Amino acid sequence: MNPAEQLLQQLGITDPREIDLEAVAWTQGARVYYRPLDGCEARIVGRDNQAIITVNDRSSARRQRFSIAHELGHWKWHRGRLLVCRAEDIGGGDTGKPQVERTADSYAADLLMPPYLLKPISSGFPKLTFKTVSEIADAFNVSRTAAATRLVETDHAPSLLVCHGQHGRKWFARAPSVPGHWFPQDSLDHDSYAFGIVFGTEPDDRMPHRIGADAWFDRRGANRFEVTEETVRIAGDDVLTLLLLVDEEMLEELPQYRGRRW
Ligand SMILES: [Zn+2]
Repeated sequence: MNPAEQLLQQLGITDPREIDLEAVAWTQGARVYYRPLDGCEARIVGRDNQAIITVNDRSSARRQRFSIAHELGHWKWHRGRLLVCRAEDIGGGDTGKPQVERTADSYAADLLMPPYLLKPISSGFPKLTFKTVSEIADAFNVSRTAAATRLVETDHAPSLLVCHGQHGRKWFARAPSVPGHWFPQDSLDHDSYAFGIVFGTEPDDRMPHRIGADAWFDRRGANRFEVTEETVRIAGDDVLTLLLLVDEEMLEELPQYRGRRW
């Protein structure tokens, strides 16, 4: 059991609705304040066993919850350091982020969606779609981004979650069952449904679409496979795409990559 789960169990939490982050923070000696922050999303200042967490009050309530949990991750693992976290440091996939931020995100995901509460609920949703993501997000009072990242990273299905903005790929998360050689392209392909949503006036997808895997991956041989793609708009101009690797042959490790992950 991970440390965040241990803490929740010590507090006697048996339902996601009982995860009151201010109360959890209080038990760890941390107080939470909300105020407008410029240039960062949240920060923590601690001394001895007392800390003050400040969260940007202009962000959505669910975003604030993730930020508090992220700062509690710093309090757990990086005590004694002053940490100021930018929006891109908190949440989403871990592409290119400093290790301390990844560690804090991983603690946040464990605190907000602990396996002992997530598994019994998520197993009721066999298909990984944004409909499932929304149900999980509502059950755990987290953003769709946080819920989708968690479901992908816990291998709910062989899948990738990719976030794109107008200037290309921002980050992605990959399920452990997906081999590392499936690396999404930096730029959106014109054939992808996501392209029409980012650069056009297309509405959100209402359902997953089948599409050639070469619209998402530029490695040789990708054109032999199909994946399913489902895209929704999130904050700002960003879109989030769920790619499901439905062809089992795509899940086979290539001999030259076996045992490597990046
Ligand atoms: Zn941070």
